[in-house]
Amino acid sequence: MDEEFLYTPIQKLKEHLNDNCFFIKRDDLIPFSFGGNKVRKSILFFRELEKQEADYVVTYGSSSSNHCRVIANMAAIRKIPCLIISPLENNNMTMNKMMMTLFGAEFIYCHVTEVSKTIENSLNILRRKGWNPYFIEGGGHGNTGTQAYVNAFEEILKYEQDHEMQFNYIFHTSGTGSTQAGLICGKKINQTKHKIIGISNARRNPGGKQVIQDSVNSYLQKNGYIIESKNDVDFIDDYILGGYGDYNTEILNVIKSVFIKDGIPLDPIYTGKGYAGMLRYIQDNNIQNQDILFIHTGGTPLFSDALEEIVNGKGN
Ligand SMILES: *Cc1c(COP(=O)(O)O)cnc(C)c1O
Repeated sequence: MDEEFLYTPIQKLKEHLNDNCFFIKRDDLIPFSFGGNKVRKSILFFRELEKQEADYVVTYGSSSSNHCRVIANMAAIRKIPCLIISPLENNNMTMNKMMMTLFGAEFIYCHVTEVSKTIENSLNILRRKGWNPYFIEGGGHGNTGTQAYVNAFEEILKYEQDHEMQFNYIFHTSGTGSTQAGLICGKKINQTKHKIIGISNARRNPGGKQVIQDSVNSYLQKNGYIIESKNDVDFIDDYILGGYGDYNTEILNVIKSVFIKDGIPLDPIYTGKGYAGMLRYIQDNNIQNQDILFIHTGGTPLFSDALEEIVNGKGN
């Protein structure tokens, strides 16, 4: 798996809220380790790792992290040891966690407040032992992660050209922000009119919005674009409920409905929360008769974790 352009399928959904036409870009079908946006990013990270001749990979994420599963898999393929710094606060046994273990990842647990210190210490210890570690930010954040979704944006443009249409809106679940930053950079570079709406699954504004704005500026600057970048990131924090990992019956019902009508699995932590948030946003802002694209950013193992509750209701 090392293609930069993956051309994942875009298909129509049965959803028709407010006479809008809904499409979905299936990044969950990227053919590696259950796909998802973390695969797009990881392909580029591992290319960089190889260029630097790094021999150890260190990253950060919770037990639900799709990012950590994908990184652990990519490291295992190359027989490179993988260290995951993980918060004590979010440590359920999940399919992702089991797969990280299967790939032979090592774990260091710490409190969320101790993360930066723990990462720095771990990297120092590895260097002292003679390793050349490569560190990947949680969620694959940074210019490399942003690049992955500049590429995805260009795939969307290609689809539009081929089909002689243009999406009015692009929605997706926004977490650490590089997916949204990449889409926004793609829009600015190509000077298109898409409204890119990130539905936050955890972070609040103004911080969440600022992280994305900083990523956009950093990417554009690094790549030599002189584009006036005003603070216009649509990072919506109205549907985060209690924060990361929190979900409700409405989200479970949306997941159930999309799975029954379209055969597409969403999950309650990322894509289902974002999709349900999108429907709410469309109602709250009375959006009608538009062509709307939702990006399925992956996370299929989390669908399996939640299946019992999707079938029987929350708390079962
Ligand atoms: C990580 C993740 C996101 C959020 O992407 P960011 O680039 O961190 O904003 C969305 N959906 C899924 C399934 C993810 O794993």
